[in-house]
Amino acid sequence: MAQDLTRDLMDLIERGRDRQLRLAVTGLSRAGKTAFLTSLVDQLRHSGLEARLDLLSAAREARLLGAQRVAQQDLGVPRFPFDQARAALEETPPRWPEPTRGISELRLKIRYRPARQAWLRPETTELTLDLFDYPGEWLLDLPLLEHDYLSWSQAQFADAGPARRSMLASFYAEVEELTPDAEIDEARLAAISEHYAEGLRAAREAGFSDLQPGRFLLPGELQGAPVLQFFPLPGLAEQDAETLDKLPEASVYAQLAKRFAYYQSHIVRPFYREHFRRFDRQIVLVDVLGALNAGPERFEDLSRALTRLMQSFNYGQRSLFSRLFTPRIDRLAIAATKADHVTPEQHQHLVALLEALLAEPLKNLKYANIPVKALSLASIRATEAREVSHQGHSTPALKGTTLDGESLLTFPGEVPSRLPTADFWTRQGFDFIAFRPQQAAPGALPHIRMDAALEWLIGDKLT
Ligand code: GDP
Repeated sequence: MAQDLTRDLMDLIERGRDRQLRLAVTGLSRAGKTAFLTSLVDQLRHSGLEARLDLLSAAREARLLGAQRVAQQDLGVPRFPFDQARAALEETPPRWPEPTRGISELRLKIRYRPARQAWLRPETTELTLDLFDYPGEWLLDLPLLEHDYLSWSQAQFADAGPARRSMLASFYAEVEELTPDAEIDEARLAAISEHYAEGLRAAREAGFSDLQPGRFLLPGELQGAPVLQFFPLPGLAEQDAETLDKLPEASVYAQLAKRFAYYQSHIVRPFYREHFRRFDRQIVLVDVLGALNAGPERFEDLSRALTRLMQSFNYGQRSLFSRLFTPRIDRLAIAATKADHVTPEQHQHLVALLEALLAEPLKNLKYANIPVKALSLASIRATEAREVSHQGHSTPALKGTTLDGESLLTFPGEVPSRLPTADFWTRQGFDFIAFRPQQAAPGALPHIRMDAALEWLIGDKLT
């Protein structure tokens, strides 16, 4: 406790001098968080030397002197594995870094020259940048705090479409047999929970995003713990609430409701209280192109998941979040990742599509007066943009190497600038290919608009 207080006080002092910033990176699995953070650290470490960061004013004005990793403060949080990620990219052939699975942290000290030299102002100064990476799936759990076990169960069964149901088929078959008042059988509850988790993971693999509870997808150190052994029960009705609440402790309903409540108070709340609440800035990464590639049902699902995920940033006075916690994020970026999968003239469309996908949450953020910027970027650019001449016409194309090592020149398709209609899916579709990273060259990693993201997220702290 005393340690916590000292830490908070030190934080406050540093922050008061405007020298410390806590920047968090999130997104659903495979959105590109690991690649983003690896590139961000790499760009800043090369800043002042060979990094290309013209859209970051401190770099453009040659005031950025460099950055170094230093020991982080919070010893309870794993360190972001930057060295391993960088090493994977330097292998022959290069590999994408292994994704991180839980929360991780890395602290950088950035040295720069202030924009205005003034009396009593030092020649050079430092900004301590604390970087955090955590799974966006965890944010899908915020709305779960508004539920009790009964209403949560109802919501889970109400939302499922046919494709999702088919992935959860073995869970459905078993849970149908279970009555709320049956006496608990621990082994059976564990087995059904496992089927539920497997079903959620299969749905995740198939590209679905709107899945709860989030920790079932990425259990980390909670793998196999009883707190993750619960699931929704079908056929519960509001009018039965009183009867259900009176069921004995040893009944299925009472046990599942207890575990649900435990999950809320010991897993979901602490993440918001101990981590999320302390972030100053946030970037949310979205794999729009991946969803576009995966087809209409999954695109729809991504849209639902994002709307849910973004509720954590809805700081309106009466929002669920503000009622539960005191947030402090004062600036937000939303980025469509892997922009190097499409030709440069499509990038504008990609941003427009991202904005369309997030129309509702963006409206809420604007209303709550939280500055937010949407952009498209490639953390680690794997392709080169080309022009191909064909019968006197020049058309844009991409050159890259597939994961199997095949060299390719391709035009992956047009990105719609609004939410795709049924017509889009039947007529055109979209075909994008996964590329492997380029062979590492000396200097910073190749990227698209990492500097624009940095300018928005930390630029004002480097003046
Ligand atoms: P995470 O699960 O959010 O940490 O996602 P990762 O950072 O591991 O990214 C998932 C996958 O997306 C990677 O393995 C790459 O295949 C791909 N990817 C991520 N960033 C980029 C990028 O900037 N360009 C390209 N072409 N692919 C990327």
